[in-house]
Formats: sequence, structure tokens, C-alpha cells
Amino acid sequence: MRLRLLPLSDRPLRVAVVGSGPAGFYAAGALLASDPPAEVDMLERLPTPWGLVRLGVAPDHPKLKEVSRAFEKIAARPGFRFFGNVELGRDARQADLAELYDGVVYAVGAQTDRRLGIPGEDLPGSWSATELVAWYNGHPDYQHLEFDLSVERVAVVGAGNVALDVLRMLALTREELASTDATDASIEAIAGSDLEELVMLARRGPAQAAFTTPELKEMGELAGADILVDLAELELDPVSEARLEGDTNARRNLEVLREFAAREPAGSPRSVRLRFCVSPVAILGDGRVEAVEVVRNRLVDERAVPTDERETIGCGLVFRSVGYHGVPLPDIPFDEDTGTMPNDGGRVLDEAGEPIPGLYCAGWIKRGPTGVIGTNKKDATETVELLLEDARTGKLPRSDAPADALVDLLVERGARPVIYAGWEAIDALERSRGEPLGRPRVKLCSWDELLAAATES
Ligand code: NAP
Repeated sequence: MRLRLLPLSDRPLRVAVVGSGPAGFYAAGALLASDPPAEVDMLERLPTPWGLVRLGVAPDHPKLKEVSRAFEKIAARPGFRFFGNVELGRDARQADLAELYDGVVYAVGAQTDRRLGIPGEDLPGSWSATELVAWYNGHPDYQHLEFDLSVERVAVVGAGNVALDVLRMLALTREELASTDATDASIEAIAGSDLEELVMLARRGPAQAAFTTPELKEMGELAGADILVDLAELELDPVSEARLEGDTNARRNLEVLREFAAREPAGSPRSVRLRFCVSPVAILGDGRVEAVEVVRNRLVDERAVPTDERETIGCGLVFRSVGYHGVPLPDIPFDEDTGTMPNDGGRVLDEAGEPIPGLYCAGWIKRGPTGVIGTNKKDATETVELLLEDARTGKLPRSDAPADALVDLLVERGARPVIYAGWEAIDALERSRGEPLGRPRVKLCSWDELLAAATES
């Protein structure tokens, strides 16, 4: 099939959006709202949309998940089609999409985790936080994982909001978990566990922590866990003190942490301990995690510099929560260091730094794994504006494939796409299962269940 340049008014622009998380939906929304509106086919590896809103946001944060209503409105607009259970590389490749669409926007997120690079990191009992998060959220690829929650102490490495999510989820009581959409297996495992102490290990000081104040405050409001902070670890060097002047989040975090440090523990069954200026140097154990060895750091211009002081913290599980990392897709440029597609505002660049016509990216695969859900709206809108500018200025190759060419291709490749009505059937079933229990939904967590529910629609 030949690509040719057509005037914009010939027919609506046809764009494929790969990935159905916030960045994908915001990109789709901006395309569908353009004048004249573009047509959008959204491709997603899972049978379900919404990315981290469904499978990353903590189950006890239902308000954050309400953004999915905005995504539902976008999906209801004329010109939108959803193709779940379609995997790039397996069912379609970039070369196919380039032939079938005028433009392709990759919004595939950052699908793996960063590593610590220390001895013992691969011992049984050492996990990435992303694995635990995917497990309790019902991701169908993670339900076979077995976290041994019979241990007394767990260490969580990192001081971001994901670290707080993991600490909090593991500290929730059965009552707190009961009204969430966490999987039944995870609720049973967490509520019935022997966990006593959950320790966060931040390599820098409290003024440099990546978590945000509302999320930190919640750690002091847990029904079944005390929050423990050592006042001595909240002492600031002059550079950190100066940071508080211009950094509202850091200033508020310090206020909250000092209030935590002043508390008398209530003797709750569990406790969450927040440690600062400590870095794991090794994960220790004979065949499984038994302890983590940490070095105390001092800050030099806000960088963590190790001292000679070491400490061994006994623990049976370690979760590293030190950020996500993007993964490369076949035939698309990728920068291994940043885990992103090299791009200029969302235009994907080739090795010479030139934009590749028709190829765009949005969200974490564009800017790295930072920001809150809403950050992706501005990010995706910027990408779409550039795509539309390229269309206006004749820089977008326009496909002469018919609108249903993707369907034909998927049939030819033996794929079993889940269309939006299929997802709506899954959604309705999950909600109906949750309703009598006062839960937003009871998720279907296996590929078989999801595909069966989608095809029974
Ligand atoms: P993050 O915010 O980037 O935090 C990563 C943490 O890991 C930082 O404290 C970082 O410390 C630490 N770290 C990195 N490398 C390390 C190493 N080698 N050793 C020890 N510590 C290391 O990442 P995240 O927690 O995965 O969150 C990703 C994004 O999602 C963030 O923008 C976050 O706000 C967002 N999110 C939001 C919510 C919410 O709004 N409720 C919930 C979850 C996630 P340094 O600062 O020293 O590098």
C-alpha cells in the first residue's frame, strides 16, 4: 500500500493510539475534539482499558480512579474504536500501523521497574513494587505470584508515592480493604498476614522525598498501624533547610513528618516506620531474603554520599520502589538510559534527531515516569497539537487504506480483539459482582475470565 499526501479536508484524519492509559485516552480525547475531528483506533494489549488507573492506582484510592469517567466519555464520542487484546509485535507492527493510519501515537507507559544493582537483589523475597501493585490490583499477568506475607518485617526501598502505596496497602486492616476493588486473594493474604513492621528506606533526607503531602498524611490515619519517625532523622543540613523556602511540598512534608515523630505509638498491631538517609548495599539471606544491609548517607548538595556507618535490618521481604522504566517496542527508536522514545514535544525522532513522519508519543514513554494522572492531559495534548500541525502543513503521510483495514489485518493474523462493547460487558459484570458487597467492582483477574466475559456480550 502506498502512502500519499492528501489535503486535510479529504476525509477525517485516522490515528492509531497504542496504549489505553491516561496518556492514550487524553490523546484520543484531543484528537476526537479537533476540528475537523479525527478518527481514533485505540490498541491495547490487555482486554481492559485505563492502564494504571485500573491496575496501578491503589485500590483504597477510589477517588483517583474516578478519572475513568472522563475516559468513558471520550470512548463514547463518534469516531472512537477500542481494540483490546491486541499486542504490538505479535498482532500488528509499527510498519502495519504506518500503512493503515495517517499517524500513530504511542502511549505505552513505562512497563518495567528500575533496579538497585546490589548483591542479593534476585533472592527469593526480593520483589519490585510494581509486581505487588499489579498483583493486588488484579492484573491478569501477575496473579500467579506468591508473596510470603508470613514474615514480620518488610523493607520498601524508595520514597515516592508508589512506596507509600505499598506500605499503606500492606498496613490496611480487613475492614479497610473490604470496600476496595483489591483482589480477594490479596485482601485475604494481607489481612491474614503476620506482618508487624513495614519500613521505608529513603536514600536522601525528608526534604528530598519524592512523595506528596496528602499521600504522606494518610500514613498517619491508618486504623491498624502506628506511624513511626525518628526525630533525629528529620534534622536538616543548611542546603535542605534552604530548599524548604521555595518548595511547598517539601515544607509541608516536613511539618507532617515532625508531627508523626512527636506521636506516642498507640500499640497498633502493625507499624510503618519511615527511615531517611539510608541506602541498601546488599540484600542478605541463605536462599531467601533474611535482612537488608544499609549504609547511612550524608547529604552533599542534596546528593546522598555514603558514610562508614552500616546497619543490618532483619526483614523477610524487600520491595524496591525506585521508579518505573520504559521498554522498547519493535522497530521504534528507544533511549535505554531514559527509558523513553527520543522525541521533541512528542514527535518521535530518528537517529539523526529528525522527526519520523507520522510517529508520535505521549505520557511516560515520552517524558519518563513522573507526574500525576492529570499531567498526562497537557502532555498528550501537546503531542496531538504537533500531529495536527504536521497534518496542516502537509508533513503527515496520509494512508489510502480503508477504515476497516485494521480489522481485516487482525482477522488475518488470527487475533481475537476485544472491542469496546466487550470491555463494557466485563465492566458491567465486575460492577454487578461488587455491588451487593458494597465494593466498586470485583475484578476478573484471569485472561480466560476476561475474554469469556468480553465475548459473551
Ligand atoms: P518517584 O516519585 O520517581 O520516586 C522514586 C523514589 O525512588 C525516589 O524517592 C528516589 O530517590 C528513589 N530512588 C531511585 N533510585 C534509587 C536507588 N538506587 N536507591 C534508593 N532509592 C532510589 O517514583 P514512583 O514512586 O514510582 O512514582 C512514579 C510517579 O507516579 C510519580 O510521579 C508519583 O508521584 C506518581 N504516583 C502518584 C500517586 C498518587 O498521586 N497518589 C501514586 C503513585 C504514584 P531520589 O529522589 O533520591 O532519586
